[in-house]
Amino acid sequence: MEFEAVIGLEIHVELNCTTKLFCDCPNRPGDDPNANTCPTCLWLPGAMPRLSEQALEKASLLCLALGAELQPRSAFDQKVYYYPDLPKGYQLSQAHLPLARGGGVDIIDEDGSPCRLRIHHVHMEEDVAKLVHEMEGRVPISLVDFNRAGAPLVEIVTEPDFRAPHQAMEFLKALRTQVRYVGASECSMENGTMRCDANISVRPRGTTQMNTKVEVKNMNSVRHVGDAIAYEIERQGASVQAGEAVVLHTRLWDPDKKATLPMRAKFEGPTVPDPSVSAIELSREWIERMRAQLPEMPAARAERLVEQHGLTRDEALSLSADPESADFLEALVAEGVAPRMAMHWLTTQLLPAVRERRQGLGTSPVSPVRLAGLLHMLAKEEVNAKAARDVLAQMFESDRRPEAIVQACGFSQISDRGALDDLIDQVIRGQESAVANYRAGQEKALGFLVGQVMQASRGKANPKVIRELLVERLGA
Ligand SMILES: [Zn+2]
Repeated sequence: MEFEAVIGLEIHVELNCTTKLFCDCPNRPGDDPNANTCPTCLWLPGAMPRLSEQALEKASLLCLALGAELQPRSAFDQKVYYYPDLPKGYQLSQAHLPLARGGGVDIIDEDGSPCRLRIHHVHMEEDVAKLVHEMEGRVPISLVDFNRAGAPLVEIVTEPDFRAPHQAMEFLKALRTQVRYVGASECSMENGTMRCDANISVRPRGTTQMNTKVEVKNMNSVRHVGDAIAYEIERQGASVQAGEAVVLHTRLWDPDKKATLPMRAKFEGPTVPDPSVSAIELSREWIERMRAQLPEMPAARAERLVEQHGLTRDEALSLSADPESADFLEALVAEGVAPRMAMHWLTTQLLPAVRERRQGLGTSPVSPVRLAGLLHMLAKEEVNAKAARDVLAQMFESDRRPEAIVQACGFSQISDRGALDDLIDQVIRGQESAVANYRAGQEKALGFLVGQVMQASRGKANPKVIRELLVERLGA
């Protein structure tokens, strides 16, 4: 029997707000343990939670970026469960009236066709504290760090639209890009600002029933999500085939074993309306004001890059997935660099160089204006491509203008015919057999001779001019 999977995702995104969700404590979980706490986020009796305006705005932008519809009224509930990371016994979340409903993310499926994966709703909630397990001598102890308690989270719950690991991975990548575009979160699965749980069930291909699902947690990268789903489809398919029933439970992905393992169930209690935080009422004007703040989103930007700058679809899509790269390219073009040349130098030279030096485009010393200066010299044939690459390497070492580096290092390209004639004479005299081969019709020999003249000029000659001169001299 062939099985297909039915998969839904629950994605937690930590908003990059300056304060926590319901108090003014700094939202910096990495500070010294318990440095950022107050009676409200320590959940002491009498605490007065008050919703952060910034969190509401960032969460709303995130919803609009995903095409979800902000609800005129949403409210917080108490999700009751008992665990040491939640000493007050309940988490403030929006279980019944979420911030937004609907929306979705468009991806390209494995067969190349476009595919929309729908979102059921988006709600806000507070993060819980962090448990730290240590040894005190030979006694194991558990400590609680409340820096993360009350940090603003958004949870995106999808429809069970996913059928394959690939779709989940593409969805997460596209979601991450869109959330980064509106500046709501860094969305890094590696450092926990984006976390993804997957609900997975299997059924015989061609049937429509919904079978018992298994929840998988603890995937720390997009790759892990794909691997865990693939593993789970295989595992559940095998148990169904063996006649065993799939039981509702939660499993953890173990990246070392490359397997999901059952985890102990947490007690989950009821969800009840919370009386301490007022409901969120959003006016039509407020929602429109948020919508007006939305930047140009990646899909629209990719389309514009194709139309305005003549990039290919693939180039435009990969570039717009990274707003920093797309901004850099557009800044180069604004400085008068031809889009094709800008794209080529950005992707084949600058980005690898920046990565090698463990910098970001924004923090590297090579600004669009400096790189444009170099590319102008290249376009005017004042330097050749090889020299330009050397100059680029030096631009990382000093803040001198590229023109100054070219001059100081003698990188100026020799295009002057007189100066080249002497070098060509020398090479023609020394390479008789290659000259003879070329005259006998071997085109390859010309490339070799151009290389020899380049070498004699120590890389400074203009290869195009050499080629022209050589053809002229040897052709007759
Ligand atoms: Zn606090």
